[in-house]
Amino acid sequence: MKEDERLFRLIKEAGSRYRHPVISARFEKFKDFKVTWNRTGKERSYKVSDYMSDSPDAALYEFLDTLISRNSGNKKGYGPEYLDWVSSDGFVLSKRPVYLERSRNITMSTTGTRRDIGESLDRLLGSGLLVDTDIDNSFFTWTAMPGFTKVGSCNAMFRVVTVSSSLDSDDVPERVLDFVTYHESLHLRRGYRPGRRAHDLAFRESERAFPGWEECEKYLLKMRREQREKMKRRGQSPVPAGV
Ligand SMILES: [Zn+2]
Repeated sequence: MKEDERLFRLIKEAGSRYRHPVISARFEKFKDFKVTWNRTGKERSYKVSDYMSDSPDAALYEFLDTLISRNSGNKKGYGPEYLDWVSSDGFVLSKRPVYLERSRNITMSTTGTRRDIGESLDRLLGSGLLVDTDIDNSFFTWTAMPGFTKVGSCNAMFRVVTVSSSLDSDDVPERVLDFVTYHESLHLRRGYRPGRRAHDLAFRESERAFPGWEECEKYLLKMRREQREKMKRRGQSPVPAGV
């Protein structure tokens, strides 16, 4: 394919800068934005996420240059052409539907059976904890399956927030849902930051602006613990925790 030829040409060029021989490269329909490679002796074959297949040469080259540099033991950061391209509204708007289509375990809706993520966002905006620009060009959805260990996640590249349907219940305080929605929205506020820590000190400070955050965290920990015990009793192995 033409796109694969362009990819191979650019990655070979980046590879030659770092004496890093690349023998083949092609775009792959990964769900997540990622790159994989195989090594044969000193030579490598790359598979690059097809979300980059129609990117401008400069953005693609910068991305590949950082990739190869890192694979050669350097610590090169991501360049502005690449970051501007993947952070542009156009990129998000054209690639997000593909990402959502490839995602399983989402309902594609903010309306749950008992709770509404949209109402949660309204409360957060109304109280001033969030502002409109935080959630600009974003997509919120419930998970289809009620995960208990991971109650929320944010894909900052495609600006997609997923909230576990375990929180779509009258038993869970509305405040806890708001806290999880707030936490994930803070990732949207910060945007796509590849190679940088998500939950750094500045993030934790913003998170603590939420009134009653401690009680909410305690509630979520208790929920996970109870679920772990329930699964143990049923003989299932627990899933690693995380927000
Ligand atoms: Zn987080």
